[in-house]
Amino acid sequence: MATLVWEYLREYENEREDILNAVETVFGSGRLVLAESVRAFEEEFAAYHGLPHCVGVDNGTNAIKLGLQAIGVKPGDEVITVSNTAAPTVLAIDGVGATPVFVDVHRENYLMDVDQVEAAITPRTRCLLPVHLYGQCVDMAPLEAIAAKHDLVILEDCAQAHGARHHGRLAGTMGKAAGFSFYPTKVLGAYGDGGATVTSDEVTEQNLRRLRYYGMEQTYYVVETPGHNSRLDEVHAEILRRKLRRLDQYIAGRRDVAARYAEGLGDTELVLPALAEGNDHVYYVYVVRHPRRDDIIEALKAYDIHLNISYPWPVHTMTGFAHLGYEKGRLPVTEELAGEIFSLPMYPSLPSGVQDKVISAVREVLSAL
Ligand SMILES: *Cc1c(COP(=O)(O)O)cnc(C)c1O
Repeated sequence: MATLVWEYLREYENEREDILNAVETVFGSGRLVLAESVRAFEEEFAAYHGLPHCVGVDNGTNAIKLGLQAIGVKPGDEVITVSNTAAPTVLAIDGVGATPVFVDVHRENYLMDVDQVEAAITPRTRCLLPVHLYGQCVDMAPLEAIAAKHDLVILEDCAQAHGARHHGRLAGTMGKAAGFSFYPTKVLGAYGDGGATVTSDEVTEQNLRRLRYYGMEQTYYVVETPGHNSRLDEVHAEILRRKLRRLDQYIAGRRDVAARYAEGLGDTELVLPALAEGNDHVYYVYVVRHPRRDDIIEALKAYDIHLNISYPWPVHTMTGFAHLGYEKGRLPVTEELAGEIFSLPMYPSLPSGVQDKVISAVREVLSAL
């Protein structure tokens, strides 16, 4: 078997009975859309976070997009975020007609450099959108202070940070709302697409429920404000309910994999992930850094090890976002990182024997550079 950054079949082997039982539960329930499993998952995912509200949606991109709409971000508003992220973060902002504004990231931990945020604020700024990238949180206290001072709302992109903590607070509980993805690779993943937006605000929750259901109340079939069809599927909700009970176990498994890498590669020239102050990392991806990244990735193919880069192209340099007007060089740290970072295999069911082969292959490749 080729060694990949992520491989769901190993998890499916371990959890097959439970997953198939979830499918059977939904298929035999008599109701396939917005029924018992979505309702129960919403309640359980909210409870995990100690929040009153969770609204299940069809994917993480729409969890952020509907979240932005629900907290009042309007076309023409500016939303401050980072370019070192998955493109969907920015697509969600673009999708509500708002303008993404980028600040650079820290060279050490690749997260939003909050010190740059205040200078990026204009009269049109409405929202701050921190991305808890790779599994650890942005420095929230100064960001919250800026939001309060300038009367801005915070929406957290938690697509990579299920269960991550920041000074003890869970990712998703630190803004007005937060978007999660349950894409299969994520720390909590469905067997297909899924997402959820959590909030402590009741009006935001009601807005979200209408927005995911065409813009209607579910019992009153009139569109008040045009919405979307963005429902979480019952079958994924039921699978997610089962997997949510194992979330802390998955995170512990990811931390074990990270610890094994630190032990096996800590004495090499690879730059390993740095833990930012106050963070409990959930290691959605294990991002390392080396100036000869491309040569390393290429050489590892001979060992049947196939790695990914999260992400090779900073969003502001993509042709699809040329209209935003960011010339190359505007975000120097983001651009520098994009040429040097890459990801090692990381998932909780990664067998330690497979990981040890990756470690020794990487060591061989590094010493032959
Ligand atoms: C995965 C991801 C998304 C998008 O989620 P989808 O479910 O793929 O739509 C958004 N932001 C970040 C940071 C992500 O990693």
